[in-house]
Amino acid sequence: MNTYNVLIIGSGPAGLFAALELERAGVDKIAVIDRLPYPAGGLLNDGKLNFDYRIGIDLDELQIDRDEAQCLMEEIRQVFTGFSKCRQVTFIDRNEKIRALGEIAGENGAQFIAPEQWHWGTDNGRAAVDFLRKRLNKTELLLDTTVNSIVRHHEDTFHVICSHHRKKIRYGAKFILAAPGRSGAYWFRDLATKLNIHHNFGPIDVGIRVELNRKFYDDITDIVYDPKFIFLTSRHKDKVRTFCTNPGGRVRPEDYYDFKLVNGDALSGRKTGNTNFALINTISLTAPFSDTTAFGQMIARQFFLLGGGKPIVQRVGDFREGRRSASATFNSRNRHFELCRPTYQATPGDITLGLPARIIDNLWESLKKIDKIVPGILHPSTLLYAPEIKFFDTHFMTDKDLETNVGGIFVAGDGAGKSRGIVGAGISGIIAARGIARKYF
Ligand SMILES: Cc1cc2nc3c(=O)[nH]c(=O)nc-3n(C[C@H](O)[C@H](O)[C@H](O)COP(=O)(O)OP(=O)(O)OC[C@H]3O[C@@H](n4cnc5c(N)ncnc54)[C@H](O)[C@@H]3O)c2cc1C
Repeated sequence: MNTYNVLIIGSGPAGLFAALELERAGVDKIAVIDRLPYPAGGLLNDGKLNFDYRIGIDLDELQIDRDEAQCLMEEIRQVFTGFSKCRQVTFIDRNEKIRALGEIAGENGAQFIAPEQWHWGTDNGRAAVDFLRKRLNKTELLLDTTVNSIVRHHEDTFHVICSHHRKKIRYGAKFILAAPGRSGAYWFRDLATKLNIHHNFGPIDVGIRVELNRKFYDDITDIVYDPKFIFLTSRHKDKVRTFCTNPGGRVRPEDYYDFKLVNGDALSGRKTGNTNFALINTISLTAPFSDTTAFGQMIARQFFLLGGGKPIVQRVGDFREGRRSASATFNSRNRHFELCRPTYQATPGDITLGLPARIIDNLWESLKKIDKIVPGILHPSTLLYAPEIKFFDTHFMTDKDLETNVGGIFVAGDGAGKSRGIVGAGISGIIAARGIARKYF
């Protein structure tokens, strides 16, 4: 049996940045395990990097202040500036247009955040991963290998039980860093329950993906590639925000075992005539039902059923009139629907059948405000896809090093609720790696 000092579960940005940091700190015998044959996690998706402590980073969750976040972000930025296909797309210094946009947003009841942004595009995803992998000198990659469970062996060692091509393999490890991302979040949560690792339910983000003819949004995205508008809705006092804007991008499905979600990305080389962005409503639940995961899955499964196994899409023109979109009229010229050709073939239908009224109210109120800031967003041809759900909803109680109550097991990344994006995931990986290195030496 091979025994490592540190076994990292997940080769996404959290896992890879943790490995880089452990090597830098002089730790040896490190391995990264991933169930996929190509180690990458979410690094293959789009690759927008937001360098702002308010985006994708929860300072309270990571128990760091703004200055620490800024320093860690700078470390990540330094790494990616060496990757030639990653280019800066939003420049914030002394940008008068950003200041003016902030004022218009404020007048319309929105907070506006314009982070410094870099982008490589889905078509450069593999190059991004290769770039990071080349920086790893000592770390072993155990690919096509799924971690099934973890058991404590001795006071200071764990056994990690995996399967590789149907073969059972056991590895020993002094420290474990679990960074399984969103796709492995519920597997790890079940395992955490068995290991008595303390966790509870955090908030969940539920909403839609909006796709429109890019000419309506270019004036904004030419200034800020991925603009962030945040609203506190008037009736329910809920938080709604725009997220993951893709100028010239595509709407993409995210496949799960028994449902599909919508998401979006953009290529670097080939652009579409559309822009898409997510509009999501943050939901917390309290007694008697606090399981935000089950709530999100229930919504997703409902759409799966209503859409015949696909997400649903509705034209704004139909939504306004309270009717479902239908295949026969989906591209109606009379109604100017031809102005936005969908980049993903979802099922034409009625999104109000699948989302709770409170969420629909909040999303529509916010869309009307965005339409005042960016006139044209609510053109009848604009497409509303559902469901877009961000399952970052498991919260692990950890110390400042992201170590759980079970000594020797650390967590990082989206799957553990420690980040919401590539930069945040990388930061949490670095924090955990530093914690492990301190305990190791
Ligand atoms: C379509 C799309 C577009 C996106 N665009 C952006 C963007 O532009 N900018 C941005 O910041 N974020 C974006 N994201 C989100 C981003 O991908 C994630 O925030 C980020 O990858 C999280 O990193 P992570 O390391 O926590 O997890 P991940 O990157 O998800 O990596 C986790 C890894 O763990 C592995 N794993 C899980 N369970 C096991 C197990 N039991 N055994 C072995 N391996 C396991 C998985 O195979 C996976 O490779 C996008 C996501 C999607 C889906």
